Amino acid sequence: MEFETVIGLEVHTQLMTQSKIFCGCSTTFGAPPNSHTCPVCLGMPGVLPVLNREVVSCAIKLGLATHCTINRSSRWARKNYFYPDLPKAYQISQYEAPICEHGYVEAELESGEVKRIRLTRIHMEEDAGKNIHGEGDDDHSYVDLNRAGVPLLEIVSEPDLRSAEEATAYLKRLRSIVRYLGISDGNMEEGSFRCDANVSIRPRGSATFGTRAEVKNLNSFRHVGHAIDYEVRRQARLLAQGQAVVQETRLWNPTEAKTFSMRSKEEAHDYRYFPDPDLLPLVVDEGWIERIRATLPELPAEKEQRFVRDYGLPAQDTGVLVASQALADYFEQVAGGVKEAKTAANWVLGDLLGVLNKLGTSVEESPVDAAALAALIRLIEEGTISGKIAKSVFEKMVATHQPAAEIVAAEGLVQVADPEQLRPILQQIFADNPTQLADYRAGKTKLMGFFVGQAMRVTGGKANPALVNDLLREMLGPVEE
Ligand code: ADP
Ligand code: MG
Ligand code: ZN
Repeated sequence: MEFETVIGLEVHTQLMTQSKIFCGCSTTFGAPPNSHTCPVCLGMPGVLPVLNREVVSCAIKLGLATHCTINRSSRWARKNYFYPDLPKAYQISQYEAPICEHGYVEAELESGEVKRIRLTRIHMEEDAGKNIHGEGDDDHSYVDLNRAGVPLLEIVSEPDLRSAEEATAYLKRLRSIVRYLGISDGNMEEGSFRCDANVSIRPRGSATFGTRAEVKNLNSFRHVGHAIDYEVRRQARLLAQGQAVVQETRLWNPTEAKTFSMRSKEEAHDYRYFPDPDLLPLVVDEGWIERIRATLPELPAEKEQRFVRDYGLPAQDTGVLVASQALADYFEQVAGGVKEAKTAANWVLGDLLGVLNKLGTSVEESPVDAAALAALIRLIEEGTISGKIAKSVFEKMVATHQPAAEIVAAEGLVQVADPEQLRPILQQIFADNPTQLADYRAGKTKLMGFFVGQAMRVTGGKANPALVNDLLREMLGPVEE
């Protein structure tokens, strides 16, 4: 039987506000354990939460950027459960009335297809603390409550995703959006952008969904993809054996490349959700929403459209260029300094990203800045160096931080574009290769490539290829029919 995969994602993104959601404690990562705490986030009796207005601003920003309805009135709820890193024994979240609903995100797939993924809701909540288990001889466990009360947005998608590739494309686009908005650093390694994947399968063509398993706390794109693929295989094997998929919560073990069962799925009623009596319903007025709307930056989807429209780029190029605002800005600076924007895109997507990848660094720390890359491309466009030589000049720019023109002058790489200088070189190549010459003249015109290759080899890649082609055609004369 052929199955279709169905995936819905719940993403938690940590907000970059200075203070926590219901108290004044700092949210800075990496401070000594329990140094960023107070009676409120420690869950002492008799204290009262005070809402950080900035958190609401962040939620509205993301809601507007993802085409959600912003609910003018929403409510705080207590989600009750006991865990050592949750001293109150409840998490303040939103349940029945979240701040944002019914949005969507569009993400581009490998095939070029743009897929729309609907968002069920976006709500605000507080993070829990962190349990740390001693290693080796240390058999104690510790609780660090610095993270308790750090604000999160939870973004819940509809079960619209149909493959690991779609899930990853959606997550990447969502992360770009929170970064463009400046509301989260989107750092998956540090856990500030993490995802639970709900995965089920169903016979292709079936109108109802299968039973899902939820894989918790995936903290890299690679893990998300692998965990989904593993779940699909596991569930297909169960169904093939006539067994049922159980609805449960699972964890991904990257070392063994498997998911394993953590607990049976908790239901909403297990949490005894109820409206938090310490907090008033949240009311946002239209003016606030409109003021925020006016501050929204150009978002990745709009940037992609503009790059196609204004620079004439093909749609396949734009997705990666707009993934980060810094890369998009870099591209625009390069494009602004050269004749052909498409050439700028090719260099940024190919050579530049290749080097950044190899060095494990970001475009902000690129060894070659946008102006320097534009200067290199101009040398090609002006015919001073060939495209091939430019590649090696670029490598030297990365290594030495020297401008392209200096490298070209110092190493004598200027292109040979003088016919009178090239003619004797070509004559010599003919003299050295009489067989090929005769074959060419006898009609084997494919040998043109051979002569071009020889000319490039003899000149160390410096001959102007277009000129070499013209001269060869002229000097080889007509071919016998
Ligand atoms: P809970 O909060 O208990 O996990 P929700 O109803 O909020 O439950 O759903 C959570 C996520 O599960 C959503 O992203 C939703 O799209 C997804 N989902 C629901 N049913 C399925 C299914 N059968 N297969 C895959 N994903 C599903
Ligand atoms: Mg869930
Ligand atoms: Zn506090």
